[in-house]
Amino acid sequence: MKLQEMGEITESPLTFKQYFTNILDAVRSTYKGMKITLKYVYGVKEVTIQYPEEKEVLPLNSRSRLFNDVENCIACMQCSTACPVSCIYISAVKREKDAPKVKTSSGQAIRLDLTMYTIDEALCCYCGLCTTVCPTECLTHTSDYEYSQYVVDSMKYDYLAPEVRVWRNRLLKK
Ligand code: SF4
Ligand code: SF4
Repeated sequence: MKLQEMGEITESPLTFKQYFTNILDAVRSTYKGMKITLKYVYGVKEVTIQYPEEKEVLPLNSRSRLFNDVENCIACMQCSTACPVSCIYISAVKREKDAPKVKTSSGQAIRLDLTMYTIDEALCCYCGLCTTVCPTECLTHTSDYEYSQYVVDSMKYDYLAPEVRVWRNRLLKK
């Protein structure tokens, strides 16, 4: 039994007019696509920049290197718990009872003193979960993407180290 007879092929043959309309559509869409491509090929529209002389400015909400403003961190560990790759290392000690009371800039009491806050940016997948759960919003992504290192261990950033604060201040001045 022929397929047409079985009802599986229902298409009717193209009419003369449809045939030429299809050709015209193909030429029109190829022309449209090539017009965009040729703009880039002949440099009417640039797609490359002369990095590092020229730098891409990332949007403010881009997720790049993380920053923890440790003075507002309450060591709640929520960020490290949420992290899917366990690349946030935190340790803290309870503040002495007679130690002066300290608060975050939003007025939250700080009951633990951070002794370590390190993020291994080589493992980080920039998912943003840690920043989402942070109750004091001290953990944020920056738009800094220039922090490659020769040694992978150097991608572990100690946020208690003064040079990290210097880095952050430098970024803020840009
Ligand atoms: S952005 Fe994601 S992977 Fe990176 S430290 Fe935060 S939770 Fe972990
Ligand atoms: S979630 Fe925020 S406040 Fe809590 S430990 Fe992490 S950075 Fe600090």
